[in-house]
Amino acid sequence: MQKKEFLYEGKAKRVYRTDDPACYIVEYKDTTTAFDGLKKEDLVNKGVLNNSIASLFFAMLHNEGIPTHFVKKLSEREMLVRALQIIPIEVIVRNVAAGSLAKRLGLTEGTPLNSTVLELNLKNDALHDPMLNQYHVQTLGLASAQELARMEELSLRTNELLQSYLKKRQIILVDFKLEFGRFKGEILLGDEISPDTCRFWDAGSGEKLDKDRFRRDLGGVTDAYAEVLRRLLEVK
Ligand code: UDP
Repeated sequence: MQKKEFLYEGKAKRVYRTDDPACYIVEYKDTTTAFDGLKKEDLVNKGVLNNSIASLFFAMLHNEGIPTHFVKKLSEREMLVRALQIIPIEVIVRNVAAGSLAKRLGLTEGTPLNSTVLELNLKNDALHDPMLNQYHVQTLGLASAQELARMEELSLRTNELLQSYLKKRQIILVDFKLEFGRFKGEILLGDEISPDTCRFWDAGSGEKLDKDRFRRDLGGVTDAYAEVLRRLLEVK
């Protein structure tokens, strides 16, 4: 697989074409951002950790029947993925109240939710990722009703699979963000699943093992990511 021209740079990743038009190479950067990119820092090795963590999650989900863009891990920082047409909707899945949900609904962070909460956000930093409902999705023409239903179905199933996988590793899956895209008439799970896009709490101590360490200046960001990777590799 030959790496061809640079296509796109996001906040945490770069995307390149390959000699196969149906595949892209994603390169994970050390850059870490929060608050729509206002807070930004390079954290040594973060990209390497996230590429490893996301590759393990995608491989597990693939084995459990979730269609994802992941093809294989190519190197420390690179993964080969299917060339998706990205749908600009972030699907947020929540099991425990935290972050913006805790603020918006006046819930104490850490309160378990009685049922799983799904939220849709428009992927648009300039507008601060506003929340969407199905009517907004329809009027903006972002996805068909059928596509949205499929994205929601895959998100809920992914939540079940990730929750039980992480529970075995003493990690509580508080919430996370997914993105999807179209590929040959199918909806595939795209983007990444990592401590940048999920909230992971240690099941014993409640210690944060995710990007909240960066957002809230708690320190030890990459040590926490490395601990997540260690636990994923430890339990087979
Ligand atoms: N999230 C993300 N990208 C975003 C917004 C949220 O990866 O642009 C993730 C975030 O890491 C958390 C979950 O989605 O795991 C819910 O985030 P929340 O809405 O609470 O927003 P935040 O508190 O991160 O601003």
